[in-house]
Amino acid sequence: MPRPGSLAGMPSRLLSLVVPPTCWICGARAPEAMPLCAACRRALPWLPERCCPWCALPVAGGGSHRCPAARHAFDGARAVVAYEGVAAAVVRAVKDRGALPLAEMMGAQLAAAVPGELLRGASIVPVPAHPIRSRMRGFDTAALLAAELARRTGRPLEDRLLRRRGWRGRQRGASRAERLAAGRLRIELRRPIPPPAVVALVDDVHTTGATLHTCALALRRGGCERVLALTWARAL
Ligand SMILES: [Zn+2]
Ligand SMILES: [Zn+2]
Repeated sequence: MPRPGSLAGMPSRLLSLVVPPTCWICGARAPEAMPLCAACRRALPWLPERCCPWCALPVAGGGSHRCPAARHAFDGARAVVAYEGVAAAVVRAVKDRGALPLAEMMGAQLAAAVPGELLRGASIVPVPAHPIRSRMRGFDTAALLAAELARRTGRPLEDRLLRRRGWRGRQRGASRAERLAAGRLRIELRRPIPPPAVVALVDDVHTTGATLHTCALALRRGGCERVLALTWARAL
């Protein structure tokens, strides 16, 4: 349900006296200070406890699986929910409507799901948004999620370490298709300094892992020793 723009900036406790809190996904009444109603919260597709530590996909009954992370430069992956149903709607609401309370919820759930020892010595690094796309959209979910995770775990946030080069970059001579294909995944260290030894790379969704892999590769090449891929959602 759209929130009245004239009330923007009003403290949320005061706001809740004027407008009863509603669910960002379905518009139903939500408990105070909760961005989702009880039904949407119950419908979140939590990942099972047994997931592959390298790719974050569920693994059934101890059987081995063809791990897609075998080709990837990150050393482990964790996620909270499957990228479907209400979870996909939550991701869209943050991206398209700037639903900050949902981003806070995602960060809290991710912080709770990642064992503390995995983050020991780690810096939190968001997957960089495409410069053109983020300017058009205005909401950078990975950055919001990384900031929330850093705040909740006390780990340092390094949100200016990586950057994504747009297709306007140095690709003279390439066809348009080549530029687009390469441009989507050109990621580099912003500064020629060694990155932290351990990085927890943060994004909203882990789909093929290609973007996470490209970020991990740039960090590895810069001297990073261990890269974890942390996302709120995992495409199954
Ligand atoms: Zn709802
Ligand atoms: Zn796996």
